[in-house]
Amino acid sequence: MGDKPTAAMVLSLIGGIFVILGGAFLAFAGSLIGSFNVTGAASASATVLALGIVGVIMGLIMVVGGFMMYSKPTSTKMWGVIVLILAIISWVTAIGGFFIGFLLGLIGGILALTFKPTMAPGAMPPPMMSSSMPMGSAPMGSMGMTCKNCGASIPAGATRCPSCGASL
Ligand SMILES: [Zn+2]
Repeated sequence: MGDKPTAAMVLSLIGGIFVILGGAFLAFAGSLIGSFNVTGAASASATVLALGIVGVIMGLIMVVGGFMMYSKPTSTKMWGVIVLILAIISWVTAIGGFFIGFLLGLIGGILALTFKPTMAPGAMPPPMMSSSMPMGSAPMGSMGMTCKNCGASIPAGATRCPSCGASL
């Protein structure tokens, strides 16, 4: 899972396309029925055609929803609800997008609803600076030590006077 609802977007897109195809198929079937010279064909044609057009519109909204939930993370849940409802309506009205549109829209909508974006890195507070270490605090106290025997200056840590060799 990234910080984008990719799976929800892809499923909503494909589901929407299938619902569009299902609607277009219905609209085509509706216009075919209208060509039959049978009693009641005209009204049946109009009903199926209208259903098909509604299906195409619903599929288009599902496709838009797929894009929107991806491009605007704040609207992911809202579009998830819309895609979910449209998928269910498409199934109830028998548009369904050959069932695949309904199924993909259903899953895509649920994924968008349950989508949780990962926290952006950088929310962590910066590490504490281990500062206040005084730099260059070399032990200067031992400097200026002098030999008790000859009075020569003795470097720090020496056990014998470098000048006269006296033990310190
Ligand atoms: Zn000395």
